[in-house]
This record gives sequence, C-alpha cells and structure tokens, in this order.
Amino acid sequence: MANVTPGCYDAAAVVTVRMLFGWDPGTDCPTRYDRASLGQCPNDDQTAAAQNRPCWAQPCTNPGPMIADHQPPLSLVWAMGGCLYPDLFYQWAHHPDSTPLSHCQAHSNAQGLDIANNFSGDPAASAQNFLMAMAII
Ligand SMILES: [Zn+2]
Repeated sequence: MANVTPGCYDAAAVVTVRMLFGWDPGTDCPTRYDRASLGQCPNDDQTAAAQNRPCWAQPCTNPGPMIADHQPPLSLVWAMGGCLYPDLFYQWAHHPDSTPLSHCQAHSNAQGLDIANNFSGDPAASAQNFLMAMAII
C-alpha cells in the first residue's frame, strides 16, 4: 500500500467528495481524466484567493505566488466518481470551495509527483489505493 505524503491530501475534503459523488469502490470510469477539458483551472478567482494563504505543506517558507490546491486533487476526484458526473465534476473543479488550500510551486510539483508515483493509471484502482492509503476505506 502506498503511504500518503504529508501536505498533499486533506482527509476532510476527501470525505466531502466521497459524499458528493457517491463513488463505490470497484466502479469503473467510462472515460479517462482529461485535464485539458477543464480549461483554466484553477480559475482567476481560485488563484486570487490562494494568494492570501500560506503553503499548507508545513513547514514551508517558500515565497509565492501560491497555487490554488484542489482538495482532493483533480485526477483523484475524477477517479472517485467525478467521471460518472462530468458536469458536476466541472462545476466542482471551478468552485472556490474545491481549492481551500494553497501550495507553493515546489510543493505543488511534489504533490503532482506523489500522485504520478502512487495514484495514477487505472482510475478505479487508483481511487481504491488512494482511499486505502488515506485509511478512509
Ligand atoms: Zn510549500
């Protein structure tokens, strides 16, 4: 089982998304995650709000600009049922509540690497591995 890296995944946000999309482990995604389909995301409002918060991967003293951090990360939300409701996923991804935290560039990159190393590939398997690593299932 993969271990989760501190400062990458907010457990409360994971629970919220599970309730929002109602994904059941083992449910396959009909389509793969396509980042480009979201357009500019985080959008201007999400990015502006992110500048008022420190990087949440503490301790961190890196300067901004800060990056609005989707929690849970977009590809994992897609895998945890966003793929079943693409319109709702799009709305969620652009809503300010989906980016409650901020990352500096370095920690944003580290999060992306963590996802690529541990929770990429088949969406259903990635979602299940992620939730098990978070001790949520
Ligand atoms: Zn940082």
